[in-house]
Amino acid sequence: HNLKMEVEITAPNGKTWSQPLGLFINNEFVKSSNESKIASINPTTEEEICSVYAATSDDVDKAVSAARKAFKDPSWKGLSGSDRGNLMRKLADLVEQNAELLATIETLDNGKPYSVALTENVPEVINVFKYYAGYADKNFGQVIDVGPAKFAYTLKEPLGVCGQIIPWNYPLDMAAWKLGPALCCGNTVVLKLAEQTPLSMLYVAKLIKEAGFPPGVVNIINGYGREAGAALVQHPQVDKVAFTGSTATGKEIMKMASATMKNITLETGGKSPLIVFEDADLDLAATWSHIGIMSNQGQICTATSRILVHEKVYDEFTEKFKETIQNISVVGDPFEESTFQGPQVTKTQYERVLGYIKAGKEEGATIFMGGEAAPHKGKGFFIAPTVFTDVKPTMKIYREEIFGPCVAIVSFKNEEEAIELANDTTYGLGSALFTKDLTRAHRVAREIEAGMVWINSSNDSDYRIPFGGIKQSGIGRELGEAGLAAYCNVKAIHVNMAA
Ligand code: NAD
Repeated sequence: HNLKMEVEITAPNGKTWSQPLGLFINNEFVKSSNESKIASINPTTEEEICSVYAATSDDVDKAVSAARKAFKDPSWKGLSGSDRGNLMRKLADLVEQNAELLATIETLDNGKPYSVALTENVPEVINVFKYYAGYADKNFGQVIDVGPAKFAYTLKEPLGVCGQIIPWNYPLDMAAWKLGPALCCGNTVVLKLAEQTPLSMLYVAKLIKEAGFPPGVVNIINGYGREAGAALVQHPQVDKVAFTGSTATGKEIMKMASATMKNITLETGGKSPLIVFEDADLDLAATWSHIGIMSNQGQICTATSRILVHEKVYDEFTEKFKETIQNISVVGDPFEESTFQGPQVTKTQYERVLGYIKAGKEEGATIFMGGEAAPHKGKGFFIAPTVFTDVKPTMKIYREEIFGPCVAIVSFKNEEEAIELANDTTYGLGSALFTKDLTRAHRVAREIEAGMVWINSSNDSDYRIPFGGIKQSGIGRELGEAGLAAYCNVKAIHVNMAA
């Protein structure tokens, strides 16, 4: 056994750092109880980067105990909202100071382009921490005037220990979306990272300690979902579970959380529609259609993976879309500046996406472009940007979340049919529509069954705006002011003022 707690890593861009490998509990990195580890693989080279300790249910219990103790400890409980906000701003500053390093780790572990990690993902973390730091001393109850006989008011209280489970597609962003509002409201946290991509957030754990958060307030563990994740969801001392990932796992989490009736927030899958009406600016539609499905290697829960195009502009749009992909979607080494699309995160995901491409062909869809693996120097989990046409709404590639750079295009005849097609899904996460007709834009936005509608854009999310789904895309909201509701109780206090 190699029981080192840190390992020196040098990335292809020359950055060198000491990577923590332990479970971050009580502000210390520790081994897992049975010393088991999970290898983290570089999806560009298919080589192991390092092996990271994986939590057992005993370790989860230790982390939860630490969070439980910290929740009651005056060093955290005694802080004012302003003090909590200051700690969060300190953490945001440390993230900013380590921006290039964190972006490097993210690219190495996840495969996303370094330019994106540096200019989008790391800034998102900073923005989210600062945004919720601002709310920490501005999130309180109301006085409810019911007349002179009673004085009534509400308090917003933290929920307690929050178990948070994140996926591998945006390791830094997903962690920030969960930690930001939880800490703002005075909760303590056990965050379980995705076992495929634990490295960047373990480095952030160092910064959490450096920022001065008391021990046990934030605990960060790597581990398998069925083991560490399930133990966290079932733990009786956990008050809340927040999860982002697949719909299937979300359903399991609901079941497990029901035993102790935990407060839950779920952000799960999607098959988000993007509608191009006949009066749309087709250049604009092609640009955003590309962003909406091909960014992040297509590994976006809100990916607009079904493009619905009015039959009159179908040919013109699909040609423009193809041109946009050919011009922008450079597939290759994520550390190269020219790269738009890196590898899929893991071999499993790579094979899953290729499986969908195969299914699309077998079901009779046309491969308008792509449709194959695209190895870089003979290695890596790369897939060519893929567009399916002649897609029928019954096909798997139209109904199921592929989670790769693959999009299905279908045509429609009128607005009614477009809405019907858009809503013909068990999901309800994102949606987008392109038209120059102002009244139609707002009319259709109301009819679409989704948590978010982008008019004349796609996946143009913002930390100040609520994010989340309906139907089988989730429960509750993250981000924005609405995101606070997931992390506090409203306690009502009644004071009898009569004799
Ligand atoms: P997943 O839902 O299984 O994993 C997400 C997180 O949940 C990980 O941290 C995982 O360890 C944990 N987890 C898994 N099983 C668990 C359990 N029984 N109890 C508690 N936690 C558990 O997703 P995946 O298998 O990594 O990916 C499969 C598919 O899920 C993808 O192809 C994609 O379609 C979808 N997905 C969606 C999102 C999203 O943002 N909505 C993110 C990742 C994956």
